[in-house]
Amino acid sequence: MNREEGNTNKKTRRNFLKLLGFGAGTMVTGAALWSGCSTTSAEDSTKVTALTTDGQLVEVDSTQLSAKTSGGVTEFSELQERGREGLAGKKFAMVIDLSKCRNARMCMAACQEAHHLHPHQHHINVLRMQDAEHTQPYFMPKPCYHCDNPPCTKVCPVDATFKRQDGIVLIDNERCIGCRFCVAACPYSARVFNWLEPKKVEGDENLVYDVELNVPQKKGTISKCLFSADCLRRGEMPYCVRACPNGVYWFGDINEDAVTNGATRETVSFSELIRKNGGYTMLEELGTKPQVYYLPPKDRAFPFIFEGSTTIDNSHS
Ligand code: SF4
Repeated sequence: MNREEGNTNKKTRRNFLKLLGFGAGTMVTGAALWSGCSTTSAEDSTKVTALTTDGQLVEVDSTQLSAKTSGGVTEFSELQERGREGLAGKKFAMVIDLSKCRNARMCMAACQEAHHLHPHQHHINVLRMQDAEHTQPYFMPKPCYHCDNPPCTKVCPVDATFKRQDGIVLIDNERCIGCRFCVAACPYSARVFNWLEPKKVEGDENLVYDVELNVPQKKGTISKCLFSADCLRRGEMPYCVRACPNGVYWFGDINEDAVTNGATRETVSFSELIRKNGGYTMLEELGTKPQVYYLPPKDRAFPFIFEGSTTIDNSHS
């Protein structure tokens, strides 16, 4: 068996086992099987030994086992397959105009809502930056940079994180074992560990896990910005891009050399936007080739407002 076949078989077996659950009335309600089962015969029923997700061996009557019906194996497999493949012919990139960010944080809120994140969890964060003592501070949104040469995917021992043909770097939380090698490998601190149980959102229990949305979230695994891969599949721009009222975000397909502004909906040449405005990527010297570009915070059209009450009027500089 070659490696690819081995992976496929492992995935298929795991998917099937994942979709088994205990029926109503069982002593271990809520536990899900994720490893092998063995059976012993009794006079009028079959006993099944099973390993629960919290590591306990339990023996249950086979009649208490039932397949979870939400979506089923087929839907789960299809979501996994298309999530790994990505969108053919596309190569996504984001441009963040630092001169326009006012720290409105609507990008963060939209992302958190879409991905069912706790308030303390961020796939995108807005940082307060100051390059030198004599220069004025500015705000810098920081998502995952979806690097073309991503160190994070190379260190994953279980192939849970991967880069797709359209450039998006995703995480499969059903494969992730929470080792955090990828967290250490990312030079941009773009990844977070899910220390807590996921936020409770009505209906999540009936959802089939979608690797493009990372919902339902899973405790003990890694999460990060997904470039809203689910939106892109529907032909929509990412949640953060659409939520920003200040025109900070441009997003598009660099195979077409076109990016569109999330607020104004203006579409321009990606390469010209970068060239004319001195666009750059973060820590270029590392060779990670980020696909999130920044335009420097020059010619800001509004005053910088500190978190307290102090205001720096930048409008005449
Ligand atoms: Fe990986 Fe970090 Fe690059 Fe995102 S920013 S692709 S997590 S190395």
